[in-house]
Amino acid sequence: MHKLISTQSKKIFPFEQLDEFTEQGESLEVRIQQIEKAKIRTGKELWDRFIEFLPFSKIDESISLGEGNTPLLKADQKLIEFTGIHNLLIKNETLNPTWSFKDRGSLFCIAMAKEMSENVVATISTGNMGHSIAAYAAKANLESIIFVPSYTPNAKIDSMSMHGANIIKINAPNYSEMKNHVLSLSRKLNLRIVSGNGPIRTEGYKLTAFEMFEQMSCQVPDYIAIPTSACGHIRGVFKGYMELFKTGYITKLPKMIVVQAQNNSPIVSSIKKGIKSITPFLDFHTIAEAITSGNPPGGEEIIQKSEQYGWLAEEVSESEIVNSQLVFAKSGYFVEPSSATILAAVRKLCKIGKIEQNAKVALIITGSGLKDNIPKNNNKVPIIQTELINVESRILNILNFNN
Ligand SMILES: *Cc1c(COP(=O)(O)O)cnc(C)c1O
Repeated sequence: MHKLISTQSKKIFPFEQLDEFTEQGESLEVRIQQIEKAKIRTGKELWDRFIEFLPFSKIDESISLGEGNTPLLKADQKLIEFTGIHNLLIKNETLNPTWSFKDRGSLFCIAMAKEMSENVVATISTGNMGHSIAAYAAKANLESIIFVPSYTPNAKIDSMSMHGANIIKINAPNYSEMKNHVLSLSRKLNLRIVSGNGPIRTEGYKLTAFEMFEQMSCQVPDYIAIPTSACGHIRGVFKGYMELFKTGYITKLPKMIVVQAQNNSPIVSSIKKGIKSITPFLDFHTIAEAITSGNPPGGEEIIQKSEQYGWLAEEVSESEIVNSQLVFAKSGYFVEPSSATILAAVRKLCKIGKIEQNAKVALIITGSGLKDNIPKNNNKVPIIQTELINVESRILNILNFNN
């Protein structure tokens, strides 16, 4: 049986335990037995091919909504010019079943619930994870409970309720306090409450690394930029590459780029200052509401890894986020503000020479703009309103303007 191991003090815990962190707040990860001997198999699904790297002996197809298989495309000239990076790749996770990468982790959370014969799944979320769990719970005939903060966008709430989730909207002084309180109820209620940085969810995110490994014909990007909040995504993707490295399938590791909003950068600001602990952010506002963990449990692991493996970290302002969202949109990608952060961050890092112009950089766009509120100060093209009789002249105006 696989075990959980605390990521810094290296203590061993049972695989099936409810707690997702140690009492000291350290994150836990799954230690795959005999990972050094894991082999990639043949099989139809990604999880079949990489089953020896995963904590389940089998994934039941019936719980899947078809997550993954998202495109990895070369960026167009506009994005190349904007960032200054010639070898820029876009991994488009907005094409997942609930329009964010969270689906990869939710698949595994549901697999775990099934393995433990649990009937209820619960999660705390600013929106995307809740929506994802609600959808996957519906597919698997499980009851779901989703705790959300008051600022969750309506489109995310509506989708959860469509899937039949029990939604509990909480007024709390801040998201961190709300999260700690909710997670503390898990053991008391004997209820598995999954967070964004839980060990099982994180295993699901390894599939992104495996998928990119296949899409790049066994090559590895030099850098991978990820908007970071609870930290599950970035550590999951890196763990996937690390395990490929341990088995000898790859001979170098990608460097991760940790990206946060300047208004809430508990991890990035610590990395930049060379501090080993999180810098908690409590009272803040950012339009990137999907990355609002101000005091993420387990965040120290990311700070430590960034030092150990030479990762980069960058923070971006609200106006840079709004602008990047528009730049992405002009290249055909409608992303939410949290995902837009990575474009501005990579541009800044290239400008100051931290990323070489010819480095191979992958941007993971994490969530779709459709479920989010559009920032008010954005410069999108105004809508033309007209009476029926003026339609023709309006069209002519556009055509003349573009000639
Ligand atoms: C959850 C989320 C993130 C942050 O991922 P973590 O695993 O919490 O670090 C980034 N972008 C989007 C769109 C998200 O939904």
